[in-house]
Amino acid sequence: MMGIQVSEGIAIGRPLIFKKKQFNITEEIAISYEIENQIIKDAFAKAEEQILNLKEKAIKKAGQEEGDIFEAHLMMLRDPMMRESIDKGLKKNQSAAKAVEDTKNKLMEMFKNIPDSYIQERAADIKDITERLLRIILREEEEDLSQISEPVILIAEDLSPSETVGLSDQVKGIIVETGGRTSHAAILAKALEIPALVGATDAIEQAKDAQMMIMDTIEGKIIVNPTEEELQVYEKKQQRYELEKQQRMIYATQKAVTKDGYPIKVYANIGSLEEWEVAKKYGANGIGLFRTEFLYMQNHHFPTEEEQFSVYKKIAEEGGEEIIIRTLDIGGDKNLAYYKFKEEMNPFLGNRAIRFTLSHIDVFKTQLKAILRAALHGNLKLMYPMISSLEELYQANQCLEQCKVELKEAQIPYKEDLSVGIMIEIPGAAIIANELIKEVDFFSIGTNDLCQYTLAVDRMNPAVSHLYIPHHPSILRLIKQVSQAANEHHKIVGVCGEMAGDPLYTKLLLGLGINELSMSSSSIPKVKEIIINNSYTECQNFAREIEKISETKAIEKKLKEDMGC
Ligand code: PEP
Ligand code: MG
Repeated sequence: MMGIQVSEGIAIGRPLIFKKKQFNITEEIAISYEIENQIIKDAFAKAEEQILNLKEKAIKKAGQEEGDIFEAHLMMLRDPMMRESIDKGLKKNQSAAKAVEDTKNKLMEMFKNIPDSYIQERAADIKDITERLLRIILREEEEDLSQISEPVILIAEDLSPSETVGLSDQVKGIIVETGGRTSHAAILAKALEIPALVGATDAIEQAKDAQMMIMDTIEGKIIVNPTEEELQVYEKKQQRYELEKQQRMIYATQKAVTKDGYPIKVYANIGSLEEWEVAKKYGANGIGLFRTEFLYMQNHHFPTEEEQFSVYKKIAEEGGEEIIIRTLDIGGDKNLAYYKFKEEMNPFLGNRAIRFTLSHIDVFKTQLKAILRAALHGNLKLMYPMISSLEELYQANQCLEQCKVELKEAQIPYKEDLSVGIMIEIPGAAIIANELIKEVDFFSIGTNDLCQYTLAVDRMNPAVSHLYIPHHPSILRLIKQVSQAANEHHKIVGVCGEMAGDPLYTKLLLGLGINELSMSSSSIPKVKEIIINNSYTECQNFAREIEKISETKAIEKKLKEDMGC
């Protein structure tokens, strides 16, 4: 069963295939416009009440950011576009139910036809809201996934945010046929810490005759109808995983210093203020990557300087010893609902990240000014994504200097000597790292993109995911080259791609000369554990051993042997 893993863990249970009831809406004629309009009014009021309840539930169970998903539902519900479209139907003598159904189809079609995965996934939100209205109008009972009373792995064609947040505690794993990494169901599953797989296109077919299932999203394994022996093995593995997860929390509060006294910066990758609260719990000492694009993606307009300033100021005040803010990294798979990107054959090779901001100077300057101002309130640093050449860096810095001049003229206080770094995520930049380092204060290696560009493997495409190998010798050589350049100039070099949070690579990365690791919060305790229990010299020796191996399989074997797995 192929799919995209969005939440790590092991689940064992009976597969429960969840098929939604299809609404049977006939071409019934309206009683009268007034009566149907009143039905709609009542349905909107009831839907609003239900969504507010769900919002509270989501905040309690998962956090503020998850609650915001339902705030977005409220906004969609209140959006005049939906109401106007329904009203048009009523005026054509349609019944309330038929008018909602037609509006649902029309809006979903509209969203689905926009060639942008983020917006397409918002079609799921429209479906959720309109089906809620239909259930209210037709007095249908809501499918109650909160009443499941035995351990199950839920398998569904799709799962709405409302359904995900209402899940019983007995749902131990989720497999969804549709959706991607940024689908709201995926975000919620991760926040609720339920192992989850999305985009598993054939899941229902494969599980239809199954009595029992094991789902291991750590190793990427699904076992349908396991043997008694397999069940025992995985029950043990699951217990061990949960126990280790709990035990590892003792490392969260410890300092990340190797046995021979070498300190490593262990930071979190976050995209919102709320995530910083979670990151602190897991022991983050700072923020190595603040992905500002979420601020843009969750908005209905390009956020203003003031809107951004208030977020950056708060994060500067509360975000730990160091906070690296990355300028807008939009494009590729990340798009904006309120901005029409030009269609591109290869968006990941197109106008994304720094290329986008340098071609939208006003957007860039608004953000730079907000960062320059907020930097007075804490140890903020600035980072440009996707730099590919010296010229691009000069151009970005020129913009930054211009912002300083304009702030000075307007007598607005800002930080003059703001520290500026770049992400190294394009092989071309890694190759000229010795030149780039002279012009910046630090490097942070984005291994997610570095891997996709070096190996020419689309990081979103499950069909080629077996070729996406972060420990490919070419990647290791590039990392070494970049860290050598930084270390020779006594500048910090970090890794902020997924590799930084994978314990398999911790010793190797330290040995290659990396001095900062920034990762998803939940990975922090296990990475700290490895740092604390190894010496820096051991790491260097280990990296030298690995560097001698030229085949990826052999490298993987050595890495796993060293971890004892
Ligand atoms: C990376 O490319 O490794 C990275 C951290 O950036 P993003 O995943 O946001 O592209
Ligand atoms: Mg990147």
